[in-house]
Amino acid sequence: MIAILKPGVSETQIENLKTWLLSKNVDVHISRGKFQTVMGLVGDTSKIDSDLLEGLDIVEAVRLVSDPFKSANRKFHPDDTVIDVRGHKIGGGNFQLIAGPCSVETPEQILTVAESVKASGANILRGGAFKPRTSPYDFQGLGETGLKYLLEAGKAADLPVVTEIMNIEHIPMFDDVDIIQVGARNMQNFELLKELGKIEKPILLKRGLANTLKELLMSAEYIMSEGNQEVILCERGIRTFETFTRNTLDLSAVPVLHDLTHLPVIVDPSHATGHAYLVESMAMAGTAAGADGIMIEVHNDPSKALCDGAQSLTPEQFRRTAQKVMKIREVL
Ligand code: PEP
Ligand code: MN
Repeated sequence: MIAILKPGVSETQIENLKTWLLSKNVDVHISRGKFQTVMGLVGDTSKIDSDLLEGLDIVEAVRLVSDPFKSANRKFHPDDTVIDVRGHKIGGGNFQLIAGPCSVETPEQILTVAESVKASGANILRGGAFKPRTSPYDFQGLGETGLKYLLEAGKAADLPVVTEIMNIEHIPMFDDVDIIQVGARNMQNFELLKELGKIEKPILLKRGLANTLKELLMSAEYIMSEGNQEVILCERGIRTFETFTRNTLDLSAVPVLHDLTHLPVIVDPSHATGHAYLVESMAMAGTAAGADGIMIEVHNDPSKALCDGAQSLTPEQFRRTAQKVMKIREVL
């Protein structure tokens, strides 16, 4: 961390600031220029509030030299993290297709979709039981019953399952779930993230609607700093001025994240676009950009879906999309 002091700061003020910084257990290197003095802070600067420092009368600006995320940082962990979900690996060159309905609706619905997506090459089944809906009057998911149907379908089709959690108190209910999803709306639910850091289970962390990639990595850091190192990041589109698509898919997030972190990165073209006809091209684009997996919403009858029907593929559309995604993988 570097603090650039304002011109004309007195020696006493510099010494006072230095004494305060030393009390925070960092080394301070002072370089006096003709007009301005610069202080270099070396050591563990994580306890120093850079905003507070920048707010001091005598400080003009503060620059961060090292990244505030450590566990997720590729600089400290150069090798890709590979997450093994019951034999299906994600990351480090391993790619997975995750598919299933937005919401679990009935035992028949989730089982039909599970079998069809498996036949098309998906190795992980998705399905929401607790749904974060914008309106309290919309279908909120089947809750614990939905979890039960999802687990039964996963078992019958021999597919690991991923499903979203919204409440810390529900964690014990997710014991048999293979991957726990933290949705976009909860990306910064820090208490939830900390608790998920204490369990041994992969966490699929989706990027928030209006969050930067650095913020996404800091949320991953919340999980990892508590012990759980198995985090899968998911780009699912961000809110921009464009309203034609539900969100704007930030494809560059994939290579940027691969550069910054060793964690696997997947793309969700369903929530990113909001329209079924756009899902295939964006699934291929996400794959071409280097994603470690693609997560797609598939419904046996999208027009009757209780949630996100407009962006859901039919099993037949998914079959074609999966084939094209696999062709892109071959080219890569
Ligand atoms: C979902 O995956 O069903 C979902 C609600 O996604 P997001 O959190 O990205 O909106
Ligand atoms: Mn959905």
